[in-house]
Amino acid sequence: MANLPSLRDLSLAELKQVTADLGLPAYRASQIAGWVHRKGVASFAEMTSLPRDVREMLSRRFRAGGLNVAGKKVSRDGSTVKYLLELADGQTVESVLMRYRYGYSACLSTQVGCRMGCRICASGLEGLVRNLTAGEIIDQIWAMQRDSGCRVGRVVLMGSGEPLDNYAATIKFLTLVNAPYGLNISHRHVTLSTCGIVPRVYDLMELRLSITLAVSLHAPNNELRSRLVPVNKAYPLEELLPACRAYAETTGRRVSFEYALLAGVNDSQQHAGELAGILRGIHCHINLLPVNPVPERGWRRSAARNVRAFRAMLERAGYPVTVRRELGLDIDAACGQLRRRVNARGRE
Ligand code: SF4
Repeated sequence: MANLPSLRDLSLAELKQVTADLGLPAYRASQIAGWVHRKGVASFAEMTSLPRDVREMLSRRFRAGGLNVAGKKVSRDGSTVKYLLELADGQTVESVLMRYRYGYSACLSTQVGCRMGCRICASGLEGLVRNLTAGEIIDQIWAMQRDSGCRVGRVVLMGSGEPLDNYAATIKFLTLVNAPYGLNISHRHVTLSTCGIVPRVYDLMELRLSITLAVSLHAPNNELRSRLVPVNKAYPLEELLPACRAYAETTGRRVSFEYALLAGVNDSQQHAGELAGILRGIHCHINLLPVNPVPERGWRRSAARNVRAFRAMLERAGYPVTVRRELGLDIDAACGQLRRRVNARGRE
C-alpha cells in the first residue's frame, strides 16, 4: 500500500490520462478529482459515486491519500494547533493550524527534515530524510481540516523543509492548491518561505505566480548570516538581494523579509541600521519574529524593548514592518520541535 502512488498527487489532466489508460469514460476523471481534491476523502470506500469495480481497479494502482494524526498540541488560548501527521511510510511531519481574525491559516511542511541547517530552527537538526510529494503537502491541509472541522483559507510553506529544495513537488502543490476542481485557494493567500536558494528564486520568478515570497534573512551582513543561515555561503547577500529585487519587479509582488530577533546576536540598533541599508530600493515588507526558544540551539528571545526599538528604526527608514504574532509558545512552536520530541520519546 505505502509504495503505491497517491491519487492526491494527480492533477485533473493526469487523472484523465489514468482513466483513459484504464478504459474508463472521461467523466470518471472529474468524479475522482471531486472526491480526491474537492472533498478530500481518505479512502476508496468514501467515493460512493464510483462503481465498486472502478474503486477496486483504482485501489490496485493507487492509494486514496490521507494522513493519520499521530499527535496534536493545542495552545492554551486555542488559537494554534500543532499537528504531528503520519505519512504512508511511517515518517512524520509537523503542520500547524492557526486561527486569525480573517480565518484559518495552515503552515505546511515540504520535506521530512531539512538539509539547510539554519541555526534558528529545529527541523534541520537531523538533516533531510526525504522530500514530500505534492499530494502529501496537500494532504496536510485535508488532515487538519478533517480533524478540526475548519476550512483553511491561507497557506504558508514555512514548516519543516526548504520548499525550493523540493522544487518540482512545491510547484505542483501550488498548482493543485489553487485548482478550481480542488481547494481553490487563491495564490494571493499562499506564502512560500525560502532560506535563499538563488537559482530557484529566479525559476519561481519566471512563473509569475501571485504568491508571496518570504525570504529568511535573519542577518544584515554575510558574516553573521553565514553563521545563522549556512546557505548564505553558497548564495551570499550580493546574489540573494538582487534576486529578491528582480522577483519583486517581475511579479509586482513585494517580498517579505523574515528576521528572527535573537538576543545579543542580531537585535542591536546597529543591525537594524545595517538592515535598512541593504534593503534600500527593494519593494518589500519586513516581518520581525520574536524567536521561539529552541533549547538545542541555545538562543534567547530579544527583550520586548529591543524588538520595539528595532522596529522603530526600520519604520523611520520607511519600511513597512510587522512583528509576527507569537503563536503557541506553549506547544513547541518552533519548527521541528514536536516531531523531535515524539521521535525521542519513541526511542526511549
Ligand atoms: S529554517 Fe527552513 S530551510 Fe532552514 S533548516 Fe529550518 S526548515 Fe530548513
